Amino acid sequence: MNSFSNESSFWMPFTNNRGFKANPRLLASAKDMHYFTPDGRAILDGTSGLWCVNAGHARPKIVEAIQKQAATLDFAPTFQLGHPLAFEFADEIAKIFPAGMDRVFFTNSGSEAVDSALKIALAYQRAIGQGTRTRLIGREKGYHGVGFGGISVGGIANNRRFFPLLPGVDHLPHTFNIEADAFTRGQPEKGAELADALESIVTLHGAETIAAVIVEPVAGSIGVMVPPKGYLERLREITRRHGILLIFDEVITAFGRLGHPTGAQYFGVTPDIITCAKGITNAAVPMGAAVASRKIYDAIVENAAPGIELFHGYTYSGHPLAAAAGLATLATYREDGLFERSRALAPYWEERAHSLRGAPHVIDIRNIGLMAAIELRPRDGAPGARAMEVFHRAFDEGLLLRVTADTIALSPPLIVEKAQIDQMFDKIGSLLKSLS
Ligand code: PLP
Repeated sequence: MNSFSNESSFWMPFTNNRGFKANPRLLASAKDMHYFTPDGRAILDGTSGLWCVNAGHARPKIVEAIQKQAATLDFAPTFQLGHPLAFEFADEIAKIFPAGMDRVFFTNSGSEAVDSALKIALAYQRAIGQGTRTRLIGREKGYHGVGFGGISVGGIANNRRFFPLLPGVDHLPHTFNIEADAFTRGQPEKGAELADALESIVTLHGAETIAAVIVEPVAGSIGVMVPPKGYLERLREITRRHGILLIFDEVITAFGRLGHPTGAQYFGVTPDIITCAKGITNAAVPMGAAVASRKIYDAIVENAAPGIELFHGYTYSGHPLAAAAGLATLATYREDGLFERSRALAPYWEERAHSLRGAPHVIDIRNIGLMAAIELRPRDGAPGARAMEVFHRAFDEGLLLRVTADTIALSPPLIVEKAQIDQMFDKIGSLLKSLS
């Protein structure tokens, strides 16, 4: 029996298990910008793994920190006890996040960060005497992980259709307008008024029923959908006016993807809660966080009756290995100037991404920071097949991409060199030419 055959015990997530097991593509090791296959082939990482290895693979400081921590304190509970690194790491995150967003609730993933943020929003409204505010508002095409809270506020039909969802959830319209905006560099000029849909939801239900709105500042997983100019600002203004909390899901956009610690800082819009994960530890140990403003923490914690203030948490919240990896990750970002590097490379990245305009099958190209999407015209009767072929052939020829439906998405580690950016877009260009 081949261990990757259909007899294999590993039930793979978000994968065509039968397709993969019939033709497995494996990664055995990684260093800096590359993965290596079991037979030693180098694969240039165009996606930071899964939007997460922002500092590049196996960075020495992070490796050492994890090794040392595993031998020093493998685990310590953070329920009614503590260990110093979790406190230190929370303080370091607070130092670089937007001013006033300095209360860090640790989780183990982006999905858990989202569910934690939604619960914190509900707890806050109750704590300030607004207990009728129980509605949650997401957005079409949003991805907020796979917890029941996350799929309820999320807007991707395949992730939702088979499962019962939270009641009292509405969705804003998405902001993607390929007819008007195809090949826009950065933020589209028009579309800020789409945020006004929140006013309609308020009119329909009453502001006193709405706890929070959650959006990704840049919709990542669905294929890099960049917010129109003024859209996030307008959402902030409307939520503030109606006493509705604004949650930015920054699982992808935090930690340098847009050249800043958070997308909130890139866009100059401060929400009430930021969810993050992935780049928080450079993905070397799973971790996420819901980072709340002092106002929210004080309302829930400082004003509570004596005892546990929030009945929520995970065995591994603030896990010592994750905290150690996280501290070393922030040090690596800082010492190597990676957020600045990401910012400095963004214009070159944009130029090279848009050089594929006019290539066969390409109907749109989008970019912001060090992320880009190349949208292909779907094959008749076979949506997704064309991009999946690019994914497989690119991998076989030494480049890791990500595809969603017929969108190719790229988000390289922030250590990427210009020559490697060239290699990525040149390879995609030549593959597109040879594709039916
Ligand atoms: N939220 C956003 C915006 C994401 O992009 C993701 C994952 O890609 C998640 C949440 C879920 O994170 P995880 O897969 O760590 O649960």
